[in-house]
Amino acid sequence: MSRAYVGQCEFCGDGLLRLMACDQCGTIVAMCDECELIWLHVDEVADDPSIESSSAFPKCPACRAKQAGWSELDDDEIAEYEMEQFVAGRSD
Ligand SMILES: [Zn+2]
Ligand SMILES: [Zn+2]
Repeated sequence: MSRAYVGQCEFCGDGLLRLMACDQCGTIVAMCDECELIWLHVDEVADDPSIESSSAFPKCPACRAKQAGWSELDDDEIAEYEMEQFVAGRSD
């Protein structure tokens, strides 16, 4: 199954920004799958990957949970939350 990403991480130069939901508050963020930086505003980082990150895993930038659990959005959830417009590509 391929996984959607919204951009390439400009900070570690290695990771892809994945759509993740906080298990505590349900907020959807972009998270690098390598360096684990988190961006609260998916639209902004999808548009400009060089903007400063909001927090780093596992801290949620929305509800401030220090040890939030995170779940990656699957394709159904990406459609449900109207995030398809930010998907830049897919990878394994
Ligand atoms: Zn990164
Ligand atoms: Zn949260």
